[in-house]
Amino acid sequence: MATIRLGITMAKMKAVVKTKPEPGAELVEIDIPTPKPDEVLVKVLATSICGTDLHIYEWNKWAQNRIRNIPQVMGHELCGEVIELGTNVKAVQKGDVISAETHIACNHCYLCHTGNAHICINGRIFGVDVNGVFAEYAVLPSSNAWILDKKIPRDFASVMEPLGNAVHTVLAGEINGNTTLVTGCGPIGVMSIAVARICGATRIIATDINEYRLQMAKKAGADLVLNPKKDDIVQRVLQETSGLGIDVVLEMSGVSTAIQQGFDCLRPGGRFSILGIPDKPMEIDIGKSIVFKYATVQGINGRLMFSTWHKTSRFLSSGRLNLDSIITHRFRLEEFEKGMELMKSGNCGKVLLYPHPKD
Ligand code: NAD
Ligand code: ZN
Repeated sequence: MATIRLGITMAKMKAVVKTKPEPGAELVEIDIPTPKPDEVLVKVLATSICGTDLHIYEWNKWAQNRIRNIPQVMGHELCGEVIELGTNVKAVQKGDVISAETHIACNHCYLCHTGNAHICINGRIFGVDVNGVFAEYAVLPSSNAWILDKKIPRDFASVMEPLGNAVHTVLAGEINGNTTLVTGCGPIGVMSIAVARICGATRIIATDINEYRLQMAKKAGADLVLNPKKDDIVQRVLQETSGLGIDVVLEMSGVSTAIQQGFDCLRPGGRFSILGIPDKPMEIDIGKSIVFKYATVQGINGRLMFSTWHKTSRFLSSGRLNLDSIITHRFRLEEFEKGMELMKSGNCGKVLLYPHPKD
């Protein structure tokens, strides 16, 4: 039954829901959610598909072990307009256009208390642990809402969360004046190339096995793209760096052979920052790859809350960072299956979905 809120009749909304513990998802009609005291209700203007959504859609091993709440609305990346406020919300206003940090922190654990809310011990994620944003409307904690500078286009706002992963990784150590290898040119790898470029990386080399993605990497600013199916990555990188090896490796593939190549390309004393998530354990010669190399190896998780968001916003609102070549496909929400298929093929950058295509 329709309810009356906001002076209008709020009926049901369309949402992409994981309805069964098996491959696939369904477009279904569900109630528009009501914000709790600390939450806001947003009209979803644009949302984008992430690799995690594809894992949940395909119902791979990781998803089978991780997803506990079915049925659950999928999706976590968004740009939305705030249309209703919970009773305690002060810092966000109706009409604000927002993106969102998708990690919900508890704000009281050791890590939250020590400035590491992005790895909160009790952390929950939209579309993974709680209902997500592949819907016409969504609720989220007001403290997760990131109010946008009006200069940032909606489509860029929708991908600010994965862009924040790229910004966090690139800026996790020195980058200016450094030669940089990006292994894996999926959307986040390509965004890292664009960020590294504006942050002053000198020579950027990128690897991927998919030619479409290598072309994207070139457009985003890679100086040299290599395909491990055709090129000897380590030899080429050593050639390009006068035999020294690369200063910085940004690991964006999660593939063990690429990770090993990254270590073999790294110069002594270099930085190796890993965002990519391997789907199984891998063997590594710690003495050769890390200890004798005096390498700094960092795991990167999420985005710093909220310094990464401030930086990401500034990159976008200044116009320094342009993502036009990285957003490659746009569909109506109803066409989510097309988007998932494209993601599966790898022949795309970011794929956006519009729940209200006429707005
Ligand atoms: P993606 O899967 O779209 O990109 C991975 C890319 O690696 C693909 O383009 C693939 O073709 C390429 N690849 C495959 N084999 C390769 C090889 N041998 N050498 C080089 N490249 C190869 O993923 P994405 O969305 O761009 O994310 C990048 C990685 O970061 C993924 O592993 C993802 O799971 C991970 N991730 C981590 C976090 C975090 O907080 N740590 C957050 C989001 C994503
Ligand atoms: Zn916490």
